Amino acid sequence: MNYLSTRGLAPQLRFSDILLGGLADDGGLYVPEAYPRFTAAELEAMRAMNYRELAFAVLSRLVDDIPADDLRALIDKTYTADVYRYVGRGENAADITPLKTLEPGLHVLALSNGPTLAFKDMAMQLLGNLFEYVLGKTGGELNIVGATSGDTGSAAEYAMRGKKGVRVFMLSPEHGMTRFQQAQMYALRDDNIHNLVIRGVFDQCQDMVKAVANDLPFKAKYHIGAVNSINWARVAAQSVYYFKAYFAATHSNTQSVSFSVPSGNFGNVYAGHVARQMGLPINKLIVATNENDVLDEFFKTGVYRPRPETKHTSSPSMDISKASNFERFVFDLSGRDVAKVRDLWRAVESGGSFDLKTHAAPGGGSLFERIADFGMVSGSSNHANRIDTIRTVYEVYGTMIDPHTADGLKVGLEHREPGVPLVCMETAQPAKFEDAIREALGIDPVRPAELADLETQPQKKHVMDADVDAVKRFLVEHAG
Ligand SMILES: *Cc1c(COP(=O)(O)O)cnc(C)c1O
Repeated sequence: MNYLSTRGLAPQLRFSDILLGGLADDGGLYVPEAYPRFTAAELEAMRAMNYRELAFAVLSRLVDDIPADDLRALIDKTYTADVYRYVGRGENAADITPLKTLEPGLHVLALSNGPTLAFKDMAMQLLGNLFEYVLGKTGGELNIVGATSGDTGSAAEYAMRGKKGVRVFMLSPEHGMTRFQQAQMYALRDDNIHNLVIRGVFDQCQDMVKAVANDLPFKAKYHIGAVNSINWARVAAQSVYYFKAYFAATHSNTQSVSFSVPSGNFGNVYAGHVARQMGLPINKLIVATNENDVLDEFFKTGVYRPRPETKHTSSPSMDISKASNFERFVFDLSGRDVAKVRDLWRAVESGGSFDLKTHAAPGGGSLFERIADFGMVSGSSNHANRIDTIRTVYEVYGTMIDPHTADGLKVGLEHREPGVPLVCMETAQPAKFEDAIREALGIDPVRPAELADLETQPQKKHVMDADVDAVKRFLVEHAG
């Protein structure tokens, strides 16, 4: 299996080559040269599989440059009831991603039972094991430099802690994250984890990470890498739970299921698209946004118009105005037309927009009309909707959901169809977002007992000014 760039001007590579890299050299994103497709008989056999078996069945079709036994061992080590142990009442940790049924035909898929209580653990934990494996083979080293405003940083740190050959340098803004989110990161005292707390805002953190990555000699000399949401291995790992949920929500493969996905960088819902391309009978993929509704505008009108300003909302992990994985979907939508993708992103990258109603599709009609062939629909949610949904779900079903999941459920219900099971992706646990829960319900969210005193544990962090030279000096001193 080769991987090629959405812009067609970078060399084709194998899975292990793109594992540690970011963007392709031509600025595009790597995608499989063709999506492997399961036959009806193969899908039938998958119905009886547990999470680890399913993960191997799916990932072994996308990864063919890691020996099968090694891949299986990495998967078996990752997807255990011990890693994904923060299950709620009535959930079975052995399911890894338990399906919670609110009422017949309406479900929430618990994806946030991992160490950081957000769905990012589903892929990041595997990534940690893959990195250690690949670096072990080559004797290489990797210094991961990233910026976080919440969930990604902690998921990366928990995935990489104690991993040989890997160090993490995570920049976070001094203010803006919840106390729980800060404590999750800063309470890690592993030698290979470094929290750089920046006297500044998230955008400054991100700009400094970009400045480090753009200094190519520095990047090469200090083996700087990233674990951002365009990482193909993260997408591949996320496609597995669509299979798991499908089989849990249906009795037979003649049925189809719709998924509602709280979206920001378009990684989660794109993983659903990959599962659909691999033959999983998915009816609709429902893209749910918050007040940052660039994607909703696109799916409703065909116009993709990233905004210069990102709004700060009460579902902060979706506060994104430029969805980094979206190019992968448009690549497929265009019939894998690399010249078209280059054209469209030339406009976007110079601060403009595009309108797919004005671009012809290969088979006739416009590219906008082709979206229906891929089952993608959308909607958006705002603060009042979110609070309302958290309250209603608690009152009617006795289930507490976090603000992001609430956005997903609100939009999912608008697209619900009779006879088609609807699965809403639960992307975080309510414990991470106490303020929103208090506002909606007047009570504190439930929290795993083990994490009860998280905020009072000793912390390891380095506070510094928003000065890229200071960050680089820190890297030089600690990169080993
Ligand atoms: C990252 C995140 C999202 C958005 O997922 P994407 O893959 O970026 O679309 C939604 N909810 C939560 C809680 C997240 O952490």
